[in-house]
Amino acid sequence: MRRRSVLLALAGMLLAGPVTAQQRRTRRPAPPAPTAAPRRPSPPPAAAVIPTPRSVLGFEPGDDRKLVEWPVLVRYFEALAKASPRVEMRELGKTTLGAPFIALVISSPENLRRLDYYRQLNAGLADPRGFRTARAARDALTNGRTIVVITSSIHSTEVGGHLSPVLLAHRLATDTSAATRAILDNVILWLVPSLNPDGVTIVSKWYNRTIGTAAEGTAPPELYHHYTGHDNNRDWYAFTQVETQLTVDSIYNVWHPQIVHDIHQMDENGARLFLPPYLDPVEPNVDPLLIDGVNALGSAMAWELAGQGKTGISINSTYDAWTPARAYQHYHGGVRILSETASANLASPMDVPFDRLEARERGYNPRERSWNFTNPWRGGRWTLRDIVSYQTDGAYALLVHAAHDRERWLTNFFTVETHATRGWREWPYAYVIPARQDSVALSALLGILRRGGVEVRTALQSFSVQGQRHGAGSYVVVLRQPYAAFAKTLLEPQHYPDRRIYPGGPPEKPYDVTAHTLPLLLGVTAIAATDSLRVPLSALITPRAVSPAAPFATEAPRIGLYKSYDAAIDEGWTRWVFDNWRVPYTSLVDSVVRAGKLHEQFDVIVLPDQPPTEIMDGLPRRYPAPYPGGIGSDGSESLRQFVTDGGTLIALNEASRFAIQALLLPVRNVLEAVPDEDFYAPGSIFRLELDTTQAVARGLRTETVGWFQGGPAFEVLDSTVTHVIGRWPEDPARVLLSGWVLHPERIAGKAAILDVQQGNGHVVLFGIRPQYRGQAIATYPLLFNSLQLK
Ligand SMILES: [Zn+2]
Repeated sequence: MRRRSVLLALAGMLLAGPVTAQQRRTRRPAPPAPTAAPRRPSPPPAAAVIPTPRSVLGFEPGDDRKLVEWPVLVRYFEALAKASPRVEMRELGKTTLGAPFIALVISSPENLRRLDYYRQLNAGLADPRGFRTARAARDALTNGRTIVVITSSIHSTEVGGHLSPVLLAHRLATDTSAATRAILDNVILWLVPSLNPDGVTIVSKWYNRTIGTAAEGTAPPELYHHYTGHDNNRDWYAFTQVETQLTVDSIYNVWHPQIVHDIHQMDENGARLFLPPYLDPVEPNVDPLLIDGVNALGSAMAWELAGQGKTGISINSTYDAWTPARAYQHYHGGVRILSETASANLASPMDVPFDRLEARERGYNPRERSWNFTNPWRGGRWTLRDIVSYQTDGAYALLVHAAHDRERWLTNFFTVETHATRGWREWPYAYVIPARQDSVALSALLGILRRGGVEVRTALQSFSVQGQRHGAGSYVVVLRQPYAAFAKTLLEPQHYPDRRIYPGGPPEKPYDVTAHTLPLLLGVTAIAATDSLRVPLSALITPRAVSPAAPFATEAPRIGLYKSYDAAIDEGWTRWVFDNWRVPYTSLVDSVVRAGKLHEQFDVIVLPDQPPTEIMDGLPRRYPAPYPGGIGSDGSESLRQFVTDGGTLIALNEASRFAIQALLLPVRNVLEAVPDEDFYAPGSIFRLELDTTQAVARGLRTETVGWFQGGPAFEVLDSTVTHVIGRWPEDPARVLLSGWVLHPERIAGKAAILDVQQGNGHVVLFGIRPQYRGQAIATYPLLFNSLQLK
């Protein structure tokens, strides 16, 4: 109580107006002045001893057709950190495949000497409840530095991102301009040169191997993140991967950046560069002041780059701000500035004539000027040099503004966290999570909340919420804490707005999926308590990690997991789930499937979610052997024989459409060729009704969830050989639990999971993704049971 009133008074005072320079000078104690010239100017860098990128890489970053593997880049950063008093390097841990995961911290030598002091000042602003006096808060605002994190190269085929951090770090280490001085004095930059070092090596190795061949410039025939491929940038709330964990644990949660800049590339046929503002919808729990910050900074960068003569810059297009999966910062007091530069053919140049630019893009037309695309690019040659120049100058422009507006960034950061700790009027008071639930799923939920900085406590006595009794030991998340928005977003259902291209017309597609409700995905109950809880709460708890038990009581079946060279992200997620739940498997490539005699080797074959044409046809012929071609008609015949011989074929989501065609199953997909305006659900959580007398649904409740994302919905054509395991509700109004769906009546009452008998075996068809992105623990048992069908 008392703390809250002190806080309010403090916040009121601080929000009343900026602290003037005069006040600052009279009241501030010892620490050095941050904004004006530092007490001691940075010593002039000894430019001769700072290694150039060429001296280590052997070329100038941006040279055509020049990429290097991760260890070479690490060598450069090591050499730079050794030579420059402005740069330090840290190894945060190891990647999935065992490479060093590194970060550089770049600032003035004076700031670097006092890093821990600045970390503590910033941590104070991140949690205003800790300030005993208003003066302590003012000191932190006055003396703090803008904390900026720049991350690059999470998507490894966006190869400019491998090299731009080299150029940026070298520039900050050597440049003597006033602008760079101001950056070094006012900003502490954490630069993560690659969020996916394994992928740097995978892509560079493949690129260097294929230079001068027909496959030059193609994507590698494997996922560029071992488990998640491109989905590695959809992991910022589930934290399934080690690279995500290292970044969150060692940087985001320690340094609480005001600004995160994530460097990406997009395709070649639109703008040369995208910068925020984002498109609507903005996820409603994001503090408005953060969106203001995104809009201001993105626009300022675009303005700055336009002033340098760069063309083809679009803002407020293509990318929305709906999901926490890509934007950890939006729930942790910071802004996320995404940049997307147009790609070339990896490191090979490409010609993009003006008339090949797409005429329609989300929010602008690349061939016409508009308020958010003021100066179209004229078309022509586009090279790696162009890419690294847009990326490096963009990042530098961001740092200029972060330095110049240091006080505004810190004050707004503090204001956002003050809002969060005070609580938002319309929000529930707390979420209550009963303690007696599935222990693995519960520990997954609590683990995510804790890693996201959410304070979790337990009730010390039993208590009532909306007439329901909860025992002592129930978990409680009070929504008045720094990262309340993170908790609320993940605990509540999403209501994605019904957005159309024109009234009554086709849906305006979201950039990614629309739902992220963890209690539904995990199968855990969490109850929103609207009013204050009258129960004493424990101190903060650290949830116990519970490892999953292997799903097989007896000997595991022999499992083959199909692995297309046209790498499917869901195949990686399936491997991740199998590895974590100790499900043994063998990866099956096309040649093995085509060769047949599969039942001699396997009891079960799993086809991960992948479009039928990719499974059938695979990669084009420009790839070298053994990569081109899919499983083809020989492989289809092998799979048919495998089932006839007594095997179980499990097809996930879109792969079910392949299985229906290839095995001529008596099943119809009612969504085949249905246009978006007649049915649409871009990644949503539906209610799923199960027949628990069927082996596949054994041990589950009769009602669960299904992750629906572009999958089929089934109509049974021969019920003598087909068992319906799961169905969507008959009542269309009951289908959607979280996300967005148009015309649910199209699938109401239709089958979602089928067991089709053929010969001596089974085909289990899923119209859902039962192991969606390593999150849908609620429906893992459906997959695990399917593996054990006899
Ligand atoms: Zn990307």
